[in-house]
Amino acid sequence: TVVAAYDDPAITDLQVRIDRYPELVTALRTNRPVLIGDIAQDPMFADTRELWKREGRTPPIRSVLTIPFGLDRRQSGIFFLRTERGDRTLTAEDSDFAEVVIRAAVAAIRRAHALESTRADNRRLEELATTDALTRLINRRALLERLSVEVDRARRFKSQLSLLMLDLDHFKQVNDVRGHLAGDDILRQMGTLLAGVVRTIDVVARYGGEEFVLILPETSTDGAAVFAERLRERVAEESFELDGAKGFHLTCSIGVATFPSPHVASTEDLFARADEALYRAKSGGRNQVRT
Ligand code: GH3
Ligand code: MG
Ligand code: MG
Repeated sequence: TVVAAYDDPAITDLQVRIDRYPELVTALRTNRPVLIGDIAQDPMFADTRELWKREGRTPPIRSVLTIPFGLDRRQSGIFFLRTERGDRTLTAEDSDFAEVVIRAAVAAIRRAHALESTRADNRRLEELATTDALTRLINRRALLERLSVEVDRARRFKSQLSLLMLDLDHFKQVNDVRGHLAGDDILRQMGTLLAGVVRTIDVVARYGGEEFVLILPETSTDGAAVFAERLRERVAEESFELDGAKGFHLTCSIGVATFPSPHVASTEDLFARADEALYRAKSGGRNQVRT
């Protein structure tokens, strides 16, 4: 692939047949510069000259110089210089000079590559730090950051937001009876279910073991209670897959709190009230929503 050409800047990603360029093949094979003073005479071009003759054309080229270079373990390239018939013949001095220039260029490209991969690594680290590995939902840390942003926004625009704290019912039994891996599998499916039922502006997080938290911006207690009730039903109706077969059922309890509301003036208050509501849902018999 020709990635760039000096005489024609429009050339990018041009595919060429390498078997028509013996100087490229030799440079790649030997990993050394190849200098051909006159391609009309050089034995390396004997077959190529035959080919051109059969095709009835003679490219107007005099000298060729190919200098191979490596970028990293996977990528390498060849710097390719040609002169036309009528130009002077390229010499060993030209080749030495070209090598110096190319070494500098390759060093610059290597630095650019290294910078790129550092950026990609940073993005990856950022994702690892904010994502729950099991469910791919955001984790507790990222949730707390999002919540403080959303609470600030609600303060500024004098709107309300609600927080749902959801805990699976008797989940310990799932682990005890079906095993921890099966429990993990259910949690993964819960994550997918939750991510699928919310609006795009909502936030779903895995708060801890089998507890999930949803932030619903622009949502009053009444609206959140309706949503939570629908969600409770949806979970109770869901047929989860266990050991390759559908048909496993479970329920959840949900506590709802709203900012701002009486006794809720901060993110801490939101969590405290939602947790209290969840506790009441549990002690009231589970599989229910409390505000
Ligand atoms: P409750 O109805 O009162 O919520 O009962 P519960 O059994 O769900 O009790 P609780 O919420 O206190 O306990 C959580 C249990 O969930 C403990 C543990 O067995 C299980 N659990 C927590 N995190 C994980 C996890 O990452 N993977 C699996 N497989 N199980 C977990
Ligand atoms: Mg729990
Ligand atoms: Mg539980």
